[in-house]
Amino acid sequence: MPQTSTATEAETSGPALFESWGRYPTYSGKIVPLNWQGDFPRAASGLANGALPVGMGRSYGDVCLLKGGNLLLTTGMDRLLDFDPATGLLTAESGITLAQILDFAVPRGFFLPVTPGTKYVTLGGAIANDIHGKNHHVAGTFGSHVTQFGLMRSDGSYKLCSPTENPDWYSATIGGMGLTGLIPWATLRLRPIVSRKIDYEGIQFHGIDEFLDLTEKSKHIEYTVSWVDCVSTGRNFARGVFMQGDHSAVPGELKPSPAPKLIFPFDAPGFALNKYTVSAFNTLFFHKQIKRRVTALQDYEPFFYPLDKVLHWNRLYGKSGLLQFQYAIPWESAREGTIAILGAVAKSGLASFLAVLKAFGDVPSPGMMSFPQPGITLALDFPIKPGLSFPLFERLADMTRNFGGRLYPAKDAAMTAAQFQAFYPQWEKFARYRDPMLTSSFWERVTGDPSTL
Ligand SMILES: Cc1cc2nc3c(=O)[nH]c(=O)nc-3n(C[C@H](O)[C@H](O)[C@H](O)COP(=O)(O)OP(=O)(O)OC[C@H]3O[C@@H](n4cnc5c(N)ncnc54)[C@H](O)[C@@H]3O)c2cc1C
Repeated sequence: MPQTSTATEAETSGPALFESWGRYPTYSGKIVPLNWQGDFPRAASGLANGALPVGMGRSYGDVCLLKGGNLLLTTGMDRLLDFDPATGLLTAESGITLAQILDFAVPRGFFLPVTPGTKYVTLGGAIANDIHGKNHHVAGTFGSHVTQFGLMRSDGSYKLCSPTENPDWYSATIGGMGLTGLIPWATLRLRPIVSRKIDYEGIQFHGIDEFLDLTEKSKHIEYTVSWVDCVSTGRNFARGVFMQGDHSAVPGELKPSPAPKLIFPFDAPGFALNKYTVSAFNTLFFHKQIKRRVTALQDYEPFFYPLDKVLHWNRLYGKSGLLQFQYAIPWESAREGTIAILGAVAKSGLASFLAVLKAFGDVPSPGMMSFPQPGITLALDFPIKPGLSFPLFERLADMTRNFGGRLYPAKDAAMTAAQFQAFYPQWEKFARYRDPMLTSSFWERVTGDPSTL
């Protein structure tokens, strides 16, 4: 369904800084706003140094950056095109955000089939990284709920992609990191709800075995995720809070969410986050839940998007930014690998403010390059400390590789070419689907220098 453009020329602007969420690395490039689906490939044809479609820049590293190149900004293409309340099928342009979809869908009794920890990501970005949420163990990835989408290539060709139409392009583009072409629009299957509320339960655990036990017992619950303390050692090693919930079955008011009011106003000084402040935060968080088990009827906003309450919270990490490290280790070595990696993090003293632990389920991911696989995933944030963070990262990535796991490109700014190619041995097959005009700083880094292999 290519849309006819009424725009004569895509506007272009000069070199500008498009930051990813981690604010590392920082590269300037030319931002080329796309307002209509027809703006691509016309805009791309006159551009030197390659191009990359981008959404909200909520990826942490360089998967949404292109040093010295052109960033095709899709957020102007945010129109809703179709909605069928009988099936929940919603078709929209790819620059629409999940927040905008929720504002439309919730009052009509529908919710996203899969959502990440922020609603400020675009539909196109969610497909291109084949994102996952707290319901991965029952719903699989975001791409599993995308019934079809358009794919525009820089040579002007166009493909309709679905599990049955151009299925190889469907699979290459879901999780394809924006490299196979521009996704101008997509159809997503929403799930029905009768209330904004979530039946929430939080349960304290001590150690990975208790976490695994809770995971097994909560298989039937739609959403599960854990916060884990990765600073404490000894008796408190790998303590955490297991958070689970289902959409409430009791009908309630379905109003849209209010706009967020809090904005983190400035870059915090580099010393604000250190092992003492992080350790204090972790102790407070753990004991905030005084009882071993807490239940509540909670609005979906704090349940799914607690961090969205403060816009630009990434400034808390100061100007040098943050690195995120997220692995998925398969069940065979998930327990052992998680204990070893958490142990290495605690020993390093390079405390992580946020550590999120979850079991991935076995619903197959539709994307050729999708990150999730059955097993355990752990996501950690680290403030960047020159000379310290990167050697630790390299060590943690090697441990991940030795345990048969892989890292998530959407969260990465540090894995080496050798590590990437070991994590994703299918990368050469995938490369055959790449649009020759499109590339990213991530792709150049991880497929670049053969001497690092
Ligand atoms: C607080 C926070 C929590 C998060 N929680 C999770 C989580 O729980 N699970 C998870 O999986 N991820 C999570 N993420 C990561 C985030 O969901 C992904 O990085 C997502 O892809 C970002 O979407 P975006 O619109 O910002 O896209 P960008 O970051 O701008 O781009 C992401 C990729 O999509 C491509 N792309 C964007 N639009 C198009 C298009 N129209 N056509 C083709 N390619 C396109 C880009 O080239 C790039 O490769 C989180 C991020 C933050 C900041």
